[in-house]
Amino acid sequence: MSDQANENIESVLQETRSFPPPAEFVEQANISSKEQYEELWNRAKDDPAGFWGDLAQGLEWAQPYDKVLEGEMPETKWFTGGKINASVNCIDRHLDSWRKNKAAIVWEGEPGDTRVLRYQDLYREVCKFANCLKKLGVETGDRVTLYMPMVPELAIAMLACSRIGATHSIIFGGFSADAIADRNNDAQAKLVITADGGWRRGKNIPLKEAVDQSLEKSPSVEKVVVYRRTGCEVDMVPDRDYWWHDLMEDVSAECDPVELDSEHPLFILYTSGSTGKPKGVQHSTGGYLLGTMMTSKWVFDLKEDDTYWCTADIGWITGHSYIVYGPLANGATTVMYEGAPNWPDEGRFWEIIEKYQVNIFYTAPTAIRAFIKWGDEWPNKYDLSSLRLLGTVGEPINPEAWMWYHTVIGQERCPIVDTWWQTETGGIMMSPLPGVTATKPGSCTTPLPGVVPDIVTAEGESLGDNQGGLLVMRQPWPHMLRTLYGDHDRFKEVYFSTIPGCYLAGDSARRDEDGYYWIMGRIDDVINVSGHRLSTMEVESALVAHPKVAEAAVVGFPHEIKGEGICCFVTLKTDDGSPELKEELKQHVRTQIGVVATPDDIRFAAALPKTRSGKIMRRLLRDIAAGRESTGDTTTLEDLNVIANLRQKDE
Ligand code: ATP
Ligand code: MG
Repeated sequence: MSDQANENIESVLQETRSFPPPAEFVEQANISSKEQYEELWNRAKDDPAGFWGDLAQGLEWAQPYDKVLEGEMPETKWFTGGKINASVNCIDRHLDSWRKNKAAIVWEGEPGDTRVLRYQDLYREVCKFANCLKKLGVETGDRVTLYMPMVPELAIAMLACSRIGATHSIIFGGFSADAIADRNNDAQAKLVITADGGWRRGKNIPLKEAVDQSLEKSPSVEKVVVYRRTGCEVDMVPDRDYWWHDLMEDVSAECDPVELDSEHPLFILYTSGSTGKPKGVQHSTGGYLLGTMMTSKWVFDLKEDDTYWCTADIGWITGHSYIVYGPLANGATTVMYEGAPNWPDEGRFWEIIEKYQVNIFYTAPTAIRAFIKWGDEWPNKYDLSSLRLLGTVGEPINPEAWMWYHTVIGQERCPIVDTWWQTETGGIMMSPLPGVTATKPGSCTTPLPGVVPDIVTAEGESLGDNQGGLLVMRQPWPHMLRTLYGDHDRFKEVYFSTIPGCYLAGDSARRDEDGYYWIMGRIDDVINVSGHRLSTMEVESALVAHPKVAEAAVVGFPHEIKGEGICCFVTLKTDDGSPELKEELKQHVRTQIGVVATPDDIRFAAALPKTRSGKIMRRLLRDIAAGRESTGDTTTLEDLNVIANLRQKDE
């Protein structure tokens, strides 16, 4: 890091719009006043054991815990001595009320087939599949890899693992055979659950084939379960591969849940790898469940009769926490969609909202930018009046994209919750409370109860208002990661060594005069121009505010005079990639945010390189801008061709 004087990150974003929660929303909200929020937040900060201990009464414990929390970060343990089972909390305890007949999962396949699983159905399927796992020799503590399309059986398999205390490790269905093998080996997985294939834009994605290849390099895996989804042809290896439907034929529909330590690893999830080699983030059972349950209730203002839809893939943490565990722990109805947002056409998401009368819709900035590019005519064709609340997660949202979401989708009626969190944090950390917080486009606003963030220098000193720096957490929370699987030293080193006593998020941020947090991007992405440290997100937001720009990714490159120059990769809504437009965009950024942020180089691109979860991968763009070869891991890149095309243009 540079010398002290230049350590702060300068903020150049100018955003003054503010949107108080609509009165009708406030009236019905779970948390509806600033006083209520402050009371919760202060209590959680001053008396975390009392605060979380009270909330933990809302879970079903097989054996009560002795202590709410023990130890200092990073070795904090929650609800020690307590025994609990996640599947019981997500299913069994809803069965002795009318919720038994409530829809737990409303599923829509890409080809248009649909299924609804009531809580009772989910119970039966989970118990049966848990018995199948036992039959195949899976025991408490074993690791099981799930490489599945977005079908209900993915959620069933997760909950079945949790029922017997097997730790699941889900690999997003778009990853390659090598990526599966790496993760199988790292986790020493014993079993893989997959499907023949999955549907994506009308095509069969051959999942089983990828698993077969991966098994040549993953010796720990003994058996494979295959769910039949697309009906494509697959090779079944005798005594290794088993059809899901065959296994399910003659098993009992009752399976006693295993009583597990609160700290028992519920799952491992490899992060998307925007910044390097994937890390096996390990989560607990009791703390994680409590965190996802409470944050779902607070942030999404969940009500008994809501239809809630999170569009993430379950292969990401967002899907784990906010399609499966959080909503089901609350007894909610969660929508699950298998396929692409633009299949058979660009109206698919809006059609689903109209069809199921979705009330709460949670998606990612990358999707919102695509919707904007596809045009307002798509959402305008559908009745979106059922929507009550909108959410976003995954990247900082550019204020102009936020405004579009607010006006076109939310019809200025729905609060937007911009939720900042990470695979490692397990659940949402900072977000508006929709019935309380006035929102500002581009800000994730304020910390949830139990979250004590700060912005510090590299030396750990707290910074004042509007000074950009490192985002850290000063106190532990129940749903934080417990370790990186098999590498506790790396866990301590990555998150807890930079600022002793604090969790380092790896993002840069600033806090404004109202106490609102603004995520500026990843620490690694900060650009140093003539001693000015600028955030990529803020320059990108200026570009996206130009009517012709669809998306932008901004990176630094070595510059003889300035230290670093600013290189902008831009995709356009129209196909006007003229030299004049380049000049216009440079001027636009300069007038929007000032001379210091004037781009040195603008490059038009057909697409930007993204991780499979849809995040812009600036790491690779830095290499291109600097004209060097990329050395980092690219297994999480969505489309290698994008990089090849960008490089070609370069030559
Ligand atoms: P890796 O850590 O392997 O590079 P990743 O960080 O992309 O992968 P996730 O844990 O899914 O994997 O993403 C968390 C990151 O996403 C955050 O650290 C932040 O950079 C970004 N992010 C998520 N939500 C928001 C948000 N609402 N506003 C700003 N940034 C966000
Ligand atoms: Mg990360």
